[in-house]
Amino acid sequence: MPASSHAPVTVLAGPTAVGKGTISTYIRDNYPEVWLSVSATTRDPRPGEVEGVHYFFVGPEAFGELVKSGEMLEWAVVHGQNSYGTIRSKVEEAVAAGKRVLLEIDLQGARQVRQTLPEARFVFLAPPSWDELVRRLVGRGTESADEQQRRLETAKLELAAEPEFDITIVNDDIGRAADELVTRMGLTPHPR
Ligand code: 5GP
Repeated sequence: MPASSHAPVTVLAGPTAVGKGTISTYIRDNYPEVWLSVSATTRDPRPGEVEGVHYFFVGPEAFGELVKSGEMLEWAVVHGQNSYGTIRSKVEEAVAAGKRVLLEIDLQGARQVRQTLPEARFVFLAPPSWDELVRRLVGRGTESADEQQRRLETAKLELAAEPEFDITIVNDDIGRAADELVTRMGLTPHPR
């Protein structure tokens, strides 16, 4: 790839509660030239989540079929609970349409994409500190105490994977981190 060109696919990963979802949604809503991949998942929709916008909500059987038929670019069981996967054909369509594609996925998925799509750009979103990550996870109050503990154990392993990534962005401020991410995707940040 020539030095001036930009990878069409960017993978954004990082530990639980670091703000991956918030940053990718911000980019989806403000940068029409970016297509945020819509994953398939076996988990139930949360209030306000829309089929085909936030996820494709599928049952375990349909998910298994997608895996078997090779339709998943990557997939993983996340937090030991539900399966999530990136639909290969949707990514290919977006790339063919000239979009910059953003995949917001977990570490297991990022490692698979590293194997299947090594030309993608791999971005690690890091918290400013461990204490801040704990504060964000506890503060959002969406998980039970047991679940928080489990996610923090996983987060320790995920933080150790940072050197596997091409770039680290510290999420000290959503707007600033989003600007850095779009710049790394080869786009010009909009004035905020
Ligand atoms: P949530 O259930 O809160 O929407 O997402 C839980 C986790 O699943 C997040 O860490 C998110 O990055 C991850 N995730 C979402 N979609 C995918 C996907 O397609 N593949 C993988 N490997 N992880 C995903």
